[in-house]
Amino acid sequence: MFKRILIANRGEIAVRIIRACRELGIECVSVYSTADKDSIHINLSDRSICIGPPPSNKSYLNINNIISAAVVTKCDAIHPGYGFLAENPKLEESCNENDLTFIGPPADIISLAGNKSKAIKVMKAHKIPVIPGSEGNIESINDALRFAKKIGYPVIIKASFGGGGKGMRICKNKKDLRSSFPLAKSESKSSFGIGEVYLEKYISKPRHIEFQIIADNFGNITCVGERECSIQRRHQKLLEEAPATNLSVKTRKTMQEFALRAARSINYKNLGTIEFLLDENEKFYFIEINTRIQVEHPVTEMVTGLDLIKEQINIASGKNIAHLPKNIKVNGHAMEFRINAEDPDNNFSPNSGKIINCFLPGGPGIRIDTYIHSNYSISPFYDSLLAKLVVWGNTRQEAISRSIRALNEFKIDGIKTTIPFHKKILNSDLYKSGNIHTHFIEEELGI
Ligand code: ADP
Repeated sequence: MFKRILIANRGEIAVRIIRACRELGIECVSVYSTADKDSIHINLSDRSICIGPPPSNKSYLNINNIISAAVVTKCDAIHPGYGFLAENPKLEESCNENDLTFIGPPADIISLAGNKSKAIKVMKAHKIPVIPGSEGNIESINDALRFAKKIGYPVIIKASFGGGGKGMRICKNKKDLRSSFPLAKSESKSSFGIGEVYLEKYISKPRHIEFQIIADNFGNITCVGERECSIQRRHQKLLEEAPATNLSVKTRKTMQEFALRAARSINYKNLGTIEFLLDENEKFYFIEINTRIQVEHPVTEMVTGLDLIKEQINIASGKNIAHLPKNIKVNGHAMEFRINAEDPDNNFSPNSGKIINCFLPGGPGIRIDTYIHSNYSISPFYDSLLAKLVVWGNTRQEAISRSIRALNEFKIDGIKTTIPFHKKILNSDLYKSGNIHTHFIEEELGI
């Protein structure tokens, strides 16, 4: 087992990883930018090192500084968390060159998954259902028009190296496609460094359902259930659940088998997520593989009793997954609410500033993953996630009423947050019925 791990991240996920390390008896080294000098992850770790000024590209994305911090503090391994460098194969390669273990899959798997159009091609070759589309990148507008004619409108243009719900454009017709195609290419270049795009049929009102995979370094792979992430705004997840609602036993089982097949087909290692869209006829399609811990991992932890960060660390240190039951038992229902520093009444604009006072809910079935506290100033430099309210109930109904109770207790004074917005979702009868899809927010709440 590792003696000391460097955590190459900040915010709630840095705190979450420190907690897992502590329970495993592993020392923690934190890194921080000057904007985060008063952040709680620094206090909770054994040692911390400043890796640069506030802009991410000079600190949390600076591989040289992070590797140097790990080397001088004599760490054995680096945990990347999510975001920042978590899906950058260069961090894994630099770890190898410096005798450090990267807690995640090898660089070749990260690279393949990061190139979404390539990953889709590989999945298709392994007979995993994919959305009708261009099978690789599209170079010219003429090719785009030809493919769109073949698969039928509406279509969606997606950035091959995109992520975080960004870099997608929906085209209802030929005219939309003509105007959007060059824009999508240049946006993809400016946001993700590479201007490659591909085309897919746009599925109307799909559900986003993803499967958590755990694989050790000895060829053992298991799936520990699914998460429903259909409550989204602008293709970004806001509220996640486990297990998925209104999913037939047969479809769940088949999707799980395909998720395992997807992972096996690329010899997957460590933790990963296989994402699918499910249409109104319960037909499902692979969309992508995420090679890191997901923001929404706690809902899986709440219904399985597993600690997924510990699993990541154990696997990276060379342990097998023999202790995991072959068929994981899902107990009750869990929900995660992303509490963001955004103003729901003002187009969700980011809201930095000082938290004058905060009160975190508690009681049965409540878990809060956060780094905020009273008198903490939220920096404008990083993403807006303040806290994750994770709620467990014996049934979905109990989880919903407990969530309403917890959201009513939750107080963050001084900045605007998404707490009132989550209350609106929970008040919807449609949401309570479980008939949700990725357009729920705009159709039901008109946002
Ligand atoms: P990212 O990696 O940026 O999160 P994904 O490919 O995982 O991108 O897609 C994010 C979300 O975008 C999905 O959950 C879904 O809501 C929407 N989406 C993506 N592809 C399609 C599609 N072909 N049809 C309809 N919605 C889609």
